[in-house]
Amino acid sequence: FLTANRGDPELLKIANWDIQSIRRDFPALQQMINGRPLIWLDNAATTHKPQCVITAVSDFYAKDNSNVHRGAHTLAKRATDAYEGAREKIRRFIGADSAEEIIFVRGATEAINLVAQSYGRMVVRPGDEIILSNLEHHANIVPWQQLCEEKGALLKVIPLNDCGEIILDEYAKLLSSKTRLVAISHVSNSLGTVVPIKVMIDMAHTLGVPVLVDGAQGIPHFKVDVSNLNADFYAFSGHKMFGPTGLGVLYAKKSLLESMPPWQGGGNMIKTVTFEHTTYNSLPNKFEAGTGHIAGAVGLGAAADYLTRLGSKPIEIYEQKLMVYGCNALSTIPRLRQVGTAAQKAGVLSFVIPGVSSEGLAEYLDRQGIAVRVGHHCAQPSLRHFGLDSTIRPSLALYNTFAEIDQLVLAVEKFLYNGG
Ligand code: PLP
Repeated sequence: FLTANRGDPELLKIANWDIQSIRRDFPALQQMINGRPLIWLDNAATTHKPQCVITAVSDFYAKDNSNVHRGAHTLAKRATDAYEGAREKIRRFIGADSAEEIIFVRGATEAINLVAQSYGRMVVRPGDEIILSNLEHHANIVPWQQLCEEKGALLKVIPLNDCGEIILDEYAKLLSSKTRLVAISHVSNSLGTVVPIKVMIDMAHTLGVPVLVDGAQGIPHFKVDVSNLNADFYAFSGHKMFGPTGLGVLYAKKSLLESMPPWQGGGNMIKTVTFEHTTYNSLPNKFEAGTGHIAGAVGLGAAADYLTRLGSKPIEIYEQKLMVYGCNALSTIPRLRQVGTAAQKAGVLSFVIPGVSSEGLAEYLDRQGIAVRVGHHCAQPSLRHFGLDSTIRPSLALYNTFAEIDQLVLAVEKFLYNGG
């Protein structure tokens, strides 16, 4: 694998894909760590930011900084235009019908909590059921568990096969007249499995059941079109798609948002307030109480522009090549067991080496300048399915290279050779 097939005709089909120039867009990738060039393979945790995102955020603070929707002065107008402009960019980026369907939140976690506590509390009754899968991140488990405890409802869990794929026949058996919602990841953050969410959404809709998609690990890797998917809710985090931390998005169909009660109360989400009664603002403000992360939204808008410029198809093709290359390269390492071998994978390569301390290996990799994550990745049930409580997780993004995968494999082999 050291002589990567870099003349691959599929890759050559991607016009203008210049990985070295793309890497130069990311200042954080230019640094040395422990005397070696940084190899960032912790993208499922968070991604680095291109200069255009950093500039958009710092320009906002340097020039346009103001609160939005309030105050009739020039900077308030500029800040409001920037914030609402970012909302429109995100609408376009995910193919939503209306900017009113884009709610800015702190991240995927907050988006899911919002749906659980607003929509969930409104529709779930004792004895009702919510369907999840065995590969969910804790952010798409705990809010539903809390809701079920409060309401006397039940969680139903779709099992996985040996590859870490959802068993669709079992899903079909779980769907029933008691199902109030299906909440499912687009891509597993611990295994990399790409979930056939379009099929699953269609299946739920035949029973009139809405579907929430946790898209935190989907949106950085391929085109997401919420209208085409017909998703009812789609949650994601800006920082995993090259945007700032602390800013994420809940997409929801307008009809659902209109029917839902507000979640948090405060400024911005109201029309009128008296001590006797409050009337609520129209969408999307109804769900955005208090001052939002305005600069974060501006940065996320810049990230969406950046991804649009690179093109979702080239990103997907390039990353798929990296993924296949990575799986093949890891499979040459003696004793290494890959965890999650789904036919469709994105972003994540998870593995263990029996008899080898994952923490020890990760520390060794860090000394070589290679950043990977080790642990349960906030998806404990998915690892328990494989009899594990921890894996090493190198995770990929559009700026990683074949050579970096070679470096990873070499470093793991060196560690093993030295008796690690
Ligand atoms: N869902 C998935 C699949 C994730 O991978 C993550 C983060 O790792 C989250 C939800 C939570 O994202 P955040 O911590 O940005 O809210």
